[in-house]
Amino acid sequence: MSTLIFFLALIWLGSGFDCNFKDSTRSEEDKLQVHLVPHTHNDVGWLKTVDEYFYGANNSIQHAGVQYILDSVIPQLRANKTKRFIYVEIAFFERWWNEQDHHMKTEVTKLVQEKRLEFINAGWCMNDEAATHYNAIIDQMTYGLNFVQETFGPDARPRIAWHIDPFGHSSEQASLFAQMSFDGFFFGRIDYADKDLRLEQKRMELVWRGSRNLGEGSDIFTGVLYNGYNPPKGFCFDQFCTDPPIQDDPRLFDLNVQETVDKFVAITNLQAMHYKTKHIMLTMGSDFMYENANLWYKNLDKLIKYVNAVSTGYCSTFKGVLVKPTQV
Ligand SMILES: [Zn+2]
Repeated sequence: MSTLIFFLALIWLGSGFDCNFKDSTRSEEDKLQVHLVPHTHNDVGWLKTVDEYFYGANNSIQHAGVQYILDSVIPQLRANKTKRFIYVEIAFFERWWNEQDHHMKTEVTKLVQEKRLEFINAGWCMNDEAATHYNAIIDQMTYGLNFVQETFGPDARPRIAWHIDPFGHSSEQASLFAQMSFDGFFFGRIDYADKDLRLEQKRMELVWRGSRNLGEGSDIFTGVLYNGYNPPKGFCFDQFCTDPPIQDDPRLFDLNVQETVDKFVAITNLQAMHYKTKHIMLTMGSDFMYENANLWYKNLDKLIKYVNAVSTGYCSTFKGVLVKPTQV
């Protein structure tokens, strides 16, 4: 995950729920680093056609309009240098790009150069792995990656493969991604029994050898995402969700900062128990989310601020947490 860009929240790492560590025993290196990844998952055809998904037509079938997602996210990124976003499906991005004027194209190019808008995977779509022929996979990946290269140059090359929604994963796909020079491969769906065992044995991250014949050339760092590709329970700030926003006016009855911080710390500590390193990823987004990006960014800003500043001790009362947007 060396090149994914995230919001970063640093939390003291306890031994799971062991809240009895003393302050003096801890150093900066002991902090759990929580990477909040703002993302949207845009199927290039599912319940509606690709055209309907792009324009947000036939929303009685499913409310989804990709043009509005990009219209909403880009101004958020332009307004604040701490904000970042990853984008995956080039079939949609290319359509949106073609509708922008010269000024907007220049601004978006700047965001890509600053790696605040980062292309991940960047095939024409996120292909299925079970029923696809490898020729088709190579063709669709080539088509999307060529767009990124020709539009934004070689520095915009995606380094992370991101198959968060295919139902099951093939060694051929892992081998192809390794041969396409991706640095890492993340996915969200594996068999539940396999996932349970991996969680228990802290084997959610691994180096996958996709091909015995190719050997090392087909090795790729692979990560199984903790929540599929959704945010943790209680922390979905999208218009599609009903989780509470962070209400931080102390004069009001529904003030929920401490409660939110406590819950976030408990959730991240629990997740960290199942990973070997002190870096964990939280996928802050889901299907066709960020149509109103301000809901996400406003609450993520508050979450980062209060988790790092308002908390007063370890676990439910921890302290000493820092935050900065960073590249890891
Ligand atoms: Zn999907």
